[in-house]
Amino acid sequence: MNKAFIREPDDTGPLNCPVCGSLGIAVVSETWQSQVAEEFAGGLADAAFFCPYDKCDVVYFDMFDRKIGTAALRHGVYPKDPRAPLCGCFGLTTDDVEADVREGVVTRVRDLLQKAKGPGARCRTMSASGRSCVGDVQRYYMKAREAKSDKPT
Ligand SMILES: [Zn+2]
Repeated sequence: MNKAFIREPDDTGPLNCPVCGSLGIAVVSETWQSQVAEEFAGGLADAAFFCPYDKCDVVYFDMFDRKIGTAALRHGVYPKDPRAPLCGCFGLTTDDVEADVREGVVTRVRDLLQKAKGPGARCRTMSASGRSCVGDVQRYYMKAREAKSDKPT
């Protein structure tokens, strides 16, 4: 068998989204299968990629240029759907993060960061990218804080 077809996602190397050109995040089949509706379960190679660009409708794609869009998902995922929870495991939303910023606290974000280290975090199946949401949460917090300080008080 051609080695190219039995590679693990980790050694496939980077692949760019066929629509927007963003660098894809390698995901295992367990991850994307958990996110897409059942009728799309056979739609991609096991080793697929997540497109992280929020404005792009492609969620997953593979090296054969097959794509799965947001309409094929079981539910909206961040950042494709800005109203979807930032964290698939614990349901932290952008509203929660904004509430922290508004109140000048980090209660909700800190709570999430704590939980994310525990056994309740199941990013492999609960996160669309298969990765921890911690980076997204921190980025969103910084962005929201900057947006707040830009506004005249
Ligand atoms: Zn894309």
